Parts: sequence; structure tokens; C-alpha cells
Amino acid sequence: MTKTPVRTDDTPPERPQPLGRLEVASDSPRRTRAVAAALADLVDIGDLLILSGDLGAGKTCFTQGLGRGLGIDQRITSPTFTLANRYPGRLLLHHLDVYRLDSVAETLDLDLPDLLESGVTVIEWGERIAAVLPPDHLVVALRFPDLDVESSDDRRIIEFVANGSRWRQCLSVLAARLAGAPS
Ligand code: ADP
Ligand code: MG
Repeated sequence: MTKTPVRTDDTPPERPQPLGRLEVASDSPRRTRAVAAALADLVDIGDLLILSGDLGAGKTCFTQGLGRGLGIDQRITSPTFTLANRYPGRLLLHHLDVYRLDSVAETLDLDLPDLLESGVTVIEWGERIAAVLPPDHLVVALRFPDLDVESSDDRRIIEFVANGSRWRQCLSVLAARLAGAPS
């Protein structure tokens, strides 16, 4: 008696392709926080996020969502005057805003290497001090969409740009999760 050979499926499980860039539309502060909370699941100690965008674009709002995703109960407020705040959660979150720094030299006071190695670091306006930041980081650029008659004040575009292979991997996972999750 001949046996029918057992068919094995050799196709490897589908793996999301690394992604250099991801754009997500947000129609409310709540949605911006939810997108950030989804990202929080993927971050680790030593990670750096540079948040860019005009005043009021939603950088602090995004950080609040990230904090929520990291299990931080404390209210996250703008560190514009304090420059740096720290919040303990699943990981330690360092939240900085360097809008008021006059020169890159002033970053010495922030003790960046220490912050970077002890938790997740989020820097609003971080592109201004890019010269002293590690090359591997995620840029989160928030912007207002082009105005049209139907646009509401609550719409934002969140653009992620991955710098380094780890972030490209993270972005592909984030894209898959956001596609599967209801907004
Ligand atoms: P930034 O830190 O970039 O200066 P904030 O996060 O402090 O900005 O402020 C963003 C403001 O815009 C908040 O008042 C927030 O409620 C409002 N807002 C309206 N729609 C959105 C949105 N889709 N995403 C983020 N913030 C939004
Ligand atoms: Mg802010």
C-alpha cells in the first residue's frame, strides 16, 4: 500500500517588512494618544524619540499617550520650563523639551548620556540638538494637515521616520498593529 506523502507547508510565516517611514492620520487628541500608546509596547530602555512639529501640533499630547502605554499614572505636562521631567512606569520615561535652549552647549547640563541609558527618552524639538544625539532614534513629526473647507482643528498627521534597523522593525510592527486595531 502506498502512503500519500504528508504535505508540509514550507512557506515561512509572513514577517512584516522593515519600514523606514510611516504616516498616520489622527482626528483627535485621543487618537494621537492611542497611537503613542501602541508604540509604547514596542519601546525599550535606551530608546530615543525625537518629537518635532510646531507649537500645538501635539508633541506633549503624544508623550502623554506614550506614558499611558508605559503604565505611568502621573499626569504628564509640558516640560518647557523645567526642561526635563522623569516619570517611573514599566520603564523610566525622560520627557524633555529643548525649545528654550539657546545653544547645543547648554545640553551639557541635561546629562543626556545618563538619561539615555536609564530609560526611554522623548525630546520635544529634539531636532535642534541632533548634533549631540545618537544616530539611532525614531523621529515623530506631528503636523497640521493642509487646510481645506472640511478640515477640523483636531486633525493632525503623525509621521514616523526610523533611523536605524531596530526602528525600521518597530515601525513595521506598529503599522501592522494600527492597521488591525480600531481607531
Ligand atoms: P505641543 O507639545 O506640540 O506644543 P500639545 O500636545 O501641548 O502640543 O498641544 C496640542 C493641542 O492640540 C492640545 O490642546 C490638544 O488637545 C490639541 N489637539 C487637537 N487635536 C489633536 C490631535 N489630533 N492630536 C494631538 N493634539 C490635538
Ligand atoms: Mg509640548
